[in-house]
Amino acid sequence: MYDAIIVGGSYAGLSAALQLARARRRLLVVDAGKRRNRFAPTSHGFLTQDGRAPGDIAADARAQLMAYPTVAWADGEATSAEQGNTGFAIAVGASRHEAKRLVLATGVSDTLPAIPGLAERWGKSVFHCPYCHGYELDQGDIGVLGVSALSMHHALMLPDWGRTTFFLNGAFEPDAEQMAQLQARGVSVERQPIREMAGERADLTLTDGRVARLDGLFTMTRTSPSSPLAEELGCAFEDSPIGPFVKTDVTKETSVPGVFACGDLARAAGSVALSVGDGAMAGLGTHRSLMFGI
Ligand code: FAD
Ligand code: MG
Repeated sequence: MYDAIIVGGSYAGLSAALQLARARRRLLVVDAGKRRNRFAPTSHGFLTQDGRAPGDIAADARAQLMAYPTVAWADGEATSAEQGNTGFAIAVGASRHEAKRLVLATGVSDTLPAIPGLAERWGKSVFHCPYCHGYELDQGDIGVLGVSALSMHHALMLPDWGRTTFFLNGAFEPDAEQMAQLQARGVSVERQPIREMAGERADLTLTDGRVARLDGLFTMTRTSPSSPLAEELGCAFEDSPIGPFVKTDVTKETSVPGVFACGDLARAAGSVALSVGDGAMAGLGTHRSLMFGI
């Protein structure tokens, strides 16, 4: 019986595990190895690691964690989780593991707009977060792909990173007030629908054959939990405009006592820095719960 099983061994899970390891607790980290940012060659905005490969950041963190003798690691996917009398049991392949507490750090998956050629460029010249990837576009030509009225927010932000064109693509029509806001920020508006992305960078071919040359394209995605475990355990969710996330209290405990959640799974918006902070809080919350009960 472990003190805690952490499902998801990326930034949030590793950070939660590190706090518990340093309290000499017995842990198992289970990880399927599919970080959300695996499509991007570089990660930005996280102190001391700006511009490094996302996988290298996670690999260093894992190496430092595994130096603690009370931590075990299992590669693979936790396919089920259940609550018993004394704790929780999870299945990984043919193995079953038990722990007093469960930390879910399984992240979210992005559903991308269905434009031919877009998915191949995700993380390379198509992004959702300007703070992560805007600077490297060097104040060049930037597109914002409209997916709903929420894209207004994106379009109004991006001029700080380059000359911005808002491609409405039939998803949304700004009213007069919104048009004035876009104009005040110097955003051009393009109503012609998009046929495809082709070419090296983020160039868009429109349905009338014109090609918009772009250094980068920003778009919102719909996110969904990468794993059904939180739902299976009965954890309550909250809705956000981009997708549902697991509801927690300030200690990152979910509505199911003894089950904690952190990182993108349990936040309306995520980044490596926010996930690491969220994971640290979940580690402390889990330790507190182990010491003082729930
Ligand atoms: P993830 O990193 O998504 O990790 C979840 C882990 O849990 C994965 O390893 C997954 O395989 C595992 N898992 C899921 N289900 C199971 C299961 N059932 N059993 C076992 N393991 C499981 N943020 C930045 O700060 N800077 C950037 O430059 C940046 N660039 C990005 C680029 C792109 C294209 C995208 C999509 C995101 C980017 N982000 C960036 C955001 C960042 O990737 C996320 O905020 C961060 O990865 C969230 O960390 P996490 O630990 O919560 O989840
Ligand atoms: Mg509690």
